[in-house]
Amino acid sequence: MSIKITEECINCGACESECPNQAIYEGGKMWRMSDGTNLLKKNKGSKSKKNIYFTSGFQIPKKQEIYFIVSEKCTECVGFYEEPQCAMICPVNCCVLDENHLESKEDLLKKKKFLHD
Ligand code: SF4
Ligand code: SF4
Repeated sequence: MSIKITEECINCGACESECPNQAIYEGGKMWRMSDGTNLLKKNKGSKSKKNIYFTSGFQIPKKQEIYFIVSEKCTECVGFYEEPQCAMICPVNCCVLDENHLESKEDLLKKKKFLHD
């Protein structure tokens, strides 16, 4: 399951640097699958639409006013830490499980491998 940031976010920015997948962005920021992952190196040279998404393609911000998590990149910190680091550091407890993105631990491990191996 991915983590999501709720409307209670106070934009302190503390979570952003804690994410091992660079899945957290400030509101209004463009994001890329390749930020903080190995996807650019893995897919270098390929010009298919799918690979452009995985490598250089900038995506529109998921939120404008508050920080957001890219669920496609969030592994709940599986493969790096025992606990979701954003949820641990957030001073207002607004990093919570995203029930719209249910994934098993096995799926999260596969995602981590896809992003980094
Ligand atoms: Fe990043 Fe971990 Fe938070 Fe997911 S749970 S956004 S991987 S810090
Ligand atoms: Fe928002 Fe919490 Fe992240 Fe601060 S740590 S930016 S309050 S989600």
